[in-house]
Amino acid sequence: MTSLLIALGLAAVWLLLCGLVAEFAAKRGHSANLWYLFSLFLTPLLGFFTVGMLPSAADLVPAGHLRCPTCDGVVQAEAQRCPYCHAQLSGMPKREKLAA
Ligand SMILES: [Zn+2]
Repeated sequence: MTSLLIALGLAAVWLLLCGLVAEFAAKRGHSANLWYLFSLFLTPLLGFFTVGMLPSAADLVPAGHLRCPTCDGVVQAEAQRCPYCHAQLSGMPKREKLAA
C-alpha cells in the first residue's frame, strides 16, 4: 500500500514538472501541448533544457509578421483576421520581444 502511494506521488510530481515545462514553452512562444507530451515521455528535465535551448518563437517570425495567439500560425502584422483559424487579430497589442 505504501509503495502504491509513493508511485502515485511520483506520478503527480512528474505531471507537475511536465506542466511547468509546458508553461515555460508557452512563455517562449512554443506549443504547450507538444512540450508537455515531450516531457511526459522523454523526462521533464530534458524537456526543460530543450525548450531553454530553442530560440524564442518570436525570433523565428519574419519581419512584418506576427504569430497568431490562438493557433500559433505566422500571419502578416497588418492582418485583421488570422487566415488559419479566423481569430480576430486587430487591436491586439504588438508582441514585445521576449527576454531571453
Ligand atoms: Zn490563428
